[in-house]
Amino acid sequence: MQITAALLSGTSQPFESTKLELDEPKNGEVLVRLVATGVCASDAHTQSGRIPSPLPCVLGHEGAGVVEAVGAGVTHVVVGDHVALSWMPNCGQCRHCQSGRPVLCTAAAPAMFAGTLLDGTVRLHHDDQPVNHYSFLSTFASHTVVPAASAIPIDRNVPLGVASLVGCAVLTGYGAVVNRAKVRPGSSVAVFGAGGVGLSAIMAARISGAEKIIVVDPIEAKRAEALTFGATHALAPSDDLVADLRNLTDGFGVDYAIDAAGSPGILEQAFAGTVAGGTIVCVGIPGPDSRPSLPGPELVRDEKIVTGSLYGSSRPALDIPMILKQYMSGNLPLDRMITKTYDLDEINAAFEDMRAGKLNRGVIIFDHELAGVSPLD
Ligand SMILES: [Zn+2]
Ligand SMILES: [Zn+2]
Repeated sequence: MQITAALLSGTSQPFESTKLELDEPKNGEVLVRLVATGVCASDAHTQSGRIPSPLPCVLGHEGAGVVEAVGAGVTHVVVGDHVALSWMPNCGQCRHCQSGRPVLCTAAAPAMFAGTLLDGTVRLHHDDQPVNHYSFLSTFASHTVVPAASAIPIDRNVPLGVASLVGCAVLTGYGAVVNRAKVRPGSSVAVFGAGGVGLSAIMAARISGAEKIIVVDPIEAKRAEALTFGATHALAPSDDLVADLRNLTDGFGVDYAIDAAGSPGILEQAFAGTVAGGTIVCVGIPGPDSRPSLPGPELVRDEKIVTGSLYGSSRPALDIPMILKQYMSGNLPLDRMITKTYDLDEINAAFEDMRAGKLNRGVIIFDHELAGVSPLD
């Protein structure tokens, strides 16, 4: 079928809204009509080359929509179901899937980096030339074919504009706090970076009962915004940051630090500003040459835990519906993350706004009625 998509032809090129050919879903795949898709920093990092992915490509990896067709062997969704998309499908059979850590699935990662679906081939074509997928989803398009495990059925009452955010930023930040750090009531949490992932971590820390939630971000407007999402204190990065964190925590340092940015130097500061026995969760993916440096003796003597968290250390098929239930019950104000909405042909403006730090989340809308969101400005 013919679809409309934003094509990225080369590194640092603008997106071009164009017609592409999309094949039918094969065995174990689902055709989804997109209703909304969020614009994520990872897309911008791929556009700029910081996170390489095969080009030409249709980017976009957080979205929600309606099932239009299913391939052979797909039984968990039917035509008409509303789905949120997960960029980490899983085979259910490898060692990591079996051990309850599906985001580490060994079947998915190689195909993701190759820009294909799970069988190693693509469904997208432009003028008879193959076009690569991005994180299995390629949501900057009117339609997409995804692995069945990427299509997570959700409650039809959830606005799909809100559901579109859950598959990347929200699950990543929320899961880092709830699944990985396991934040306890009454504790203190520092969140580095107040983008979509950081705000999600802040919301999750709040509903986990953290007493102090300290946001660290260089942009004043983002700090102010984070305070409205549940942060109790806001700090700008500085040479005094570690002292500031200790001053806010009776001299000890925070119980948990979440690095939602991945920028150079943050991990070192987060480590120093965390209490002995505390946990530092690295979420933002640093540049490929990053080699953080930690004080070895303190790592041992202070029993600090430094851990990564990929995709919220989640089980997407369970966690995505659970997070959306908390939105519907009013615990997680996910709709407040949507600063601005765009049409697909405004995608370059959306990326400019994101790079300028103007957005909590920008969302591209294909179907306003089903998206059901009203942006804040
Ligand atoms: Zn993302
Ligand atoms: Zn697996």
